[in-house]
Amino acid sequence: MNEEIKRNILEKIESYQTIIVSRHIRPDGDAVGSTKGLVKVLRDTYPAKDVYLVNEDYSDYLAFCGREDVVTDDVYKNALFIAIDTGTRKRLSNSKYTLAKEIVKIDHHIEADPYGDVNWVEDFRSSACEMIADFCLTFRDRLNISAEAATYIYMGMVTDSGRFRFEGVTGETMRLAGALLDFGIDYETLFAHLYMETRERLKLKSFVYDNLQITPNGVAYIYISEEIQKQFGLTLEAASDVVSDLSKIRGSLIWVAFIYNSAKQEIRVRLRSRFLGINDLAIKYHGGGHNMAAGATVYSEEEMYALIADADALLGEYKATHEGWL
Ligand code: AMP
Repeated sequence: MNEEIKRNILEKIESYQTIIVSRHIRPDGDAVGSTKGLVKVLRDTYPAKDVYLVNEDYSDYLAFCGREDVVTDDVYKNALFIAIDTGTRKRLSNSKYTLAKEIVKIDHHIEADPYGDVNWVEDFRSSACEMIADFCLTFRDRLNISAEAATYIYMGMVTDSGRFRFEGVTGETMRLAGALLDFGIDYETLFAHLYMETRERLKLKSFVYDNLQITPNGVAYIYISEEIQKQFGLTLEAASDVVSDLSKIRGSLIWVAFIYNSAKQEIRVRLRSRFLGINDLAIKYHGGGHNMAAGATVYSEEEMYALIADADALLGEYKATHEGWL
């Protein structure tokens, strides 16, 4: 079945002169890699087409991937709009998408908002880049895949799967990644970009280790208040990054970072887990995402503590009814 959708998407790409590609807000490696990778492939394959990568926000962490395009509204009129890695229209980093003639959605989140005219959604995929890899490699005889494009796509596969560790990684994931490597990816440079940390970031990490809390059943969490953001000179994005520092505590199968967003006067919640799902919990608190990596928003400290209590109860029940969770 997905062969038919992929063919349909390729036909649409071939039939349009103008193509605009976008991703989700607050981009991660998968959002950036999938969009930049596909755009590079399309530009190299169809030099006469107008292919744009247009988004309304930007990530410092992925600055090494370069800047994106700016277009005027009239460009959308006869354009094909391809949204990648974006589950809901609310999360699109492009408010102009309705101006486009047709929309293709390519995504690996649990389907909650089929906003495309064509929706290719496979939530079993470890990353959207895995889908882009599948798409490009399926049509490798017709598409021009450069080492640069392969690197972007590989980057998203590597980052969204936690270096091929997370749920959703299959033999197919590795076969696709392996095929991309054959295009000549400079993975030493790529991993240097992904792993190098500044002294300031390490100081923040030290603060997180000193100040994180653990509930009776093992939920690890930290609240990065406005004061802490000021103390460390953090952007919202840098503050949000602390969720990764909580991921390796034995017994803490759920970990949560709360980040105060002073502009919106709300608290961004980043939830992660292993072995048990937290997507329903995220949905309860105005969010969603994947089974083991989801986001939410809470609007007060009381609501934050309610979420923590719910997470604690969830983990308590899981531990009481399961064995072998380390
Ligand atoms: P994050 O913690 O922002 O990296 O989000 C983890 C996953 O959950 C990502 O795949 C997001 O796309 C998804 N997600 C984050 N926030 C929300 C939200 N408010 N609603 C729906 N999905 C979300």
